[in-house]
Amino acid sequence: MSYIDEVMERVIAQNPAQPEFHQAVREVLDSLRPVIERNEEKYRKEALLERMTTPERAVIFRVPWVDDKGQVQVNNGYRIQFNSAIGPYKGGLRLHPSVNLSIIKFLGFEQVFKNSLTGTPIGGGKGGSDFDPKGKSDNEVMAFCQSFMTELYRHIGADVDVPAGDIGTGAREIGYLYGQYKRITGKYEGVLTGKGLTYGGSLARKEATGYGLLYITDELLKANGMELKGKTVVVSGAGNVAIYAVEKAQQLGAKVVTVSDSTGWIYDPEGIDVALLKDVKEVRRARLTAYAEARPSAQYHEGRGVFTVKCDVALPCATQNELREEDARALVANGCIAVCEGANMPTTRTATDYLIEQGVLFVPGKAANAGGVATSALEMSQNSMRLSWTFEEVDAKLRDIMKGIFASIDSAAKEYGMPGNYVAGANIAGFLKVANAMEAQGIV
Ligand code: NDP
Repeated sequence: MSYIDEVMERVIAQNPAQPEFHQAVREVLDSLRPVIERNEEKYRKEALLERMTTPERAVIFRVPWVDDKGQVQVNNGYRIQFNSAIGPYKGGLRLHPSVNLSIIKFLGFEQVFKNSLTGTPIGGGKGGSDFDPKGKSDNEVMAFCQSFMTELYRHIGADVDVPAGDIGTGAREIGYLYGQYKRITGKYEGVLTGKGLTYGGSLARKEATGYGLLYITDELLKANGMELKGKTVVVSGAGNVAIYAVEKAQQLGAKVVTVSDSTGWIYDPEGIDVALLKDVKEVRRARLTAYAEARPSAQYHEGRGVFTVKCDVALPCATQNELREEDARALVANGCIAVCEGANMPTTRTATDYLIEQGVLFVPGKAANAGGVATSALEMSQNSMRLSWTFEEVDAKLRDIMKGIFASIDSAAKEYGMPGNYVAGANIAGFLKVANAMEAQGIV
């Protein structure tokens, strides 16, 4: 049996009932075959892949808090410190009822390679809870965040592990988490990113994941002799990543005709009104029905359906496994030329394989959405230096980083004989740096 197949069997046996984690590891290992085969004996002896697929540390904890009615609630808290070979652990905190150990481990594993691709010195981690901020009062969200941080603080630090936002963790939650960290430790340090601008946050961090997604999409199209200007784009999601993806796509001359949330989706043939979308989602925290009520050209549909709309470019920006095989078939039938993942692993494995087979240009999330964590690394640098860069300075660095990521995944794919396969390119380029750092640091 090949070394990769042996490791995959081990991962499944040692991590039962963790399908998302298995899916993420399988996807990465499969695309690493040409690299591993060149060095199979050495890597097997060093148990490199066994070490890479086992988190350095996994913390699971109880998060008790009291709701507005005086009832005690209990959630599960997680922090997976996956790999620190190239820097302190870095990765978001997800607050969503679907959160479990499998999902946090898949996200932590992916984060290792994504962070490596950014070219900044950060390792990979991820955390979160099955707490659902939706429908909770500010008081309840604060009570949860304070309880969560009361355990988490002992495991993190500006040079140890620096969490950030993710699904359900926005500016409000980061503020409450930071306040509690500071209160317990007495330290004013860059222990979280995505902070507010008045207390150590970076300009352009809020926009970074969505903007970065469009910068790499632009690079991808240019490298393939096309441009974004004039293209029709579908976006799924209506959260942080989706909103700023829509904004930058429009700034670059494309027309975005859809957004979605977990209950329904909008088709707006005149192009999404991003100011209205921000008002609905960022200010009013309302459903997309409120967008449709305020915009005569918009049609609201219950359920899912974004990927059935005719487009040139599709940007899934909501959650894992949202773009399925039937969606991939609809995209191809409608003439879609490129799919770039704003969310983490939004495309199922069969859908990814189908898109690539059909010649659709495909950039995986670990490259395409790395602008968020890259800008978090820039926030860490500004905190360490105790100074702030302008929006334009951060945005220019983000753009350069996304160009660099595209160049490195493109050249890794070519070097290993798979030109245009950016999934393989991203996994290989991300892997090589981490593998090299792990080997240099001995058996740890
Ligand atoms: P938000 O919470 O701001 O938005 C998530 C959006 O996706 C919402 O519109 C939400 O709808 C929708 N959504 C969430 N879960 C589901 C589901 N199960 N089915 C359908 N729709 C769903 O999160 P972000 O925009 O920050 O994150 C989106 C994705 O991007 C995630 O995969 C995240 O890991 C990834 N990512 C985020 C980064 C960041 O900087 N924020 C960085 C890199 C990756 P509703 O409001 O109805 O729940």
